[in-house]
Amino acid sequence: MKTYDHFIDGEYVQPLGGQWLDSMDPYKGQPWAQIARGDARDVDRAVQAASRAMSSGPWASMTATQRGKLMLKLADLVAANAERLAEIEVRDNGKLLAEMRGQLNYHPEWWRYFGGLADKIEGAVMPIDKPDMMAFTRHEPVGVVGALTAWNSPLLFIAWKCAPAIAAGCTVVVKPSEFASVSTLEFAALTREAGFPNGVFNVVTGLGAEAGSALVDHPDVAKITFTGSDATGARIYAQAAKTMKRVALELGGKSPNIVFDDCDLDKAAAGAISGIFAATGQTCIAGSRLLVQNSIKDVFTQKVAALGASARKGDPMRADTNIGPVTTPAQFQKIIDYMAIAEGEGARCILGGGPAQPSAELTGGQFVEPTIYTDVTPQMRIAREEVFGPVLSIIGFEDEAEAIAIGNDTIYGLAAGVWTRDIGRAMRMSKALKAGTVWVNTYRAISYMMPFGGMKHSGIGRESGIEAVRQYLETKSVWMSYSEDAPANPFIMR
Ligand code: NAD
Repeated sequence: MKTYDHFIDGEYVQPLGGQWLDSMDPYKGQPWAQIARGDARDVDRAVQAASRAMSSGPWASMTATQRGKLMLKLADLVAANAERLAEIEVRDNGKLLAEMRGQLNYHPEWWRYFGGLADKIEGAVMPIDKPDMMAFTRHEPVGVVGALTAWNSPLLFIAWKCAPAIAAGCTVVVKPSEFASVSTLEFAALTREAGFPNGVFNVVTGLGAEAGSALVDHPDVAKITFTGSDATGARIYAQAAKTMKRVALELGGKSPNIVFDDCDLDKAAAGAISGIFAATGQTCIAGSRLLVQNSIKDVFTQKVAALGASARKGDPMRADTNIGPVTTPAQFQKIIDYMAIAEGEGARCILGGGPAQPSAELTGGQFVEPTIYTDVTPQMRIAREEVFGPVLSIIGFEDEAEAIAIGNDTIYGLAAGVWTRDIGRAMRMSKALKAGTVWVNTYRAISYMMPFGGMKHSGIGRESGIEAVRQYLETKSVWMSYSEDAPANPFIMR
């Protein structure tokens, strides 16, 4: 079993507290690696390295073009190591190898896109309304960024957060989830191989309440970018206020996937299944509320249930597996608890509804049955709270107005799906839904060039796309007078 240390200032260093944590393989139900248990001292060491790199040395004096070239080199190294990194992440969080291969082969595009953007961060010259004055803006890196990531897609979140931050000229300290840190630690070695100067990319592992909280508190961290649950996000938001940090939050969801009777039902059924059963439902964008127009509700429900029933649970490394294990024991219990809540509320279970039956292939892992409830009403907890598992609630609606009302009746606003052949309806729905992303006749599509993030309790800020880099910049306004006139009256505003 390999033991991993922190990655600070370009090298792997042991935790100052001398303690390590087991990292579990969710499929086998056994520890497969150990990660350092960091505390405030390790975090301080990493933040100091990141601060030094910001203020002096090669990173501070590098041109934006040189910065971009390093990022392109890193992209090539990730591409060359995609298979290895994908397998590591499967061992760490139980995601399907097929899904992780796709993610890792796509991951380099974030470094290429933002690497290309690094030397296109332009300020503006203002046609200023005062005589003999030159006024312009510069966009400067915000400073040291603390990145806290969730366990469901650690390397994807590194790309989303660190590529724009590093393009902006920031340095980063990443604190990955204690349940899936190994891929981030392996990725760190690639930043060194790419030639990133020491201190630009650092990783401190450990528990949220110890290492994570210390990162949020550290006075030399300028910005926290967080992906995780809304409860932790709210706590971090309040905590970060004490040191006036900038905060970006990517949180949970209860996304509506809305099916109208004029759509292609087969495509919509596939979209409904991929929306909720992909990644064993452990995605923030899970389309966990399937809103179906009453006129097709019975026939569409049958289609979705038949497709869901065909999902094969098993070893996430196997190409024919559709449903892998739940990543943590706590998450497994949470899913089972929500199934009991749904039953208690009177929802009707038409698929699954409990832990998976044991079999030779499922020993060790915490597997749940892909589950579908009908007769769900919008007031039920199963329709309002994020389960973060393969549990779908089907809710009927009559018309567009009711679909919008139910779709928006949630504290969340991360994503929504709309299935229709009517272009006018697609436009009206995409405008009316309060969600950071609306997919029409597709679901779960993402890209490095498309902003991603939530409205309402689903978060603050956007990742990916050009606007992501602005979230790691401060705008400075520079005023220069070249007036030869006598000094103005110092007691009035200029
Ligand atoms: P979590 O909130 O428990 O943990 C996220 C990260 O924060 C981890 O690194 C954790 O160690 C750290 N952390 C926990 N407590 C902390 C504290 N007090 N101070 C500082 N750091 C702390 O979330 P999770 O269980 O790892 O992930 C699941 C959640 O993430 C779900 O709610 C899901 O919806 C959300 N998520 C959101 C997105 C998105 O982009 N919007 C993507 C994936 C997951």
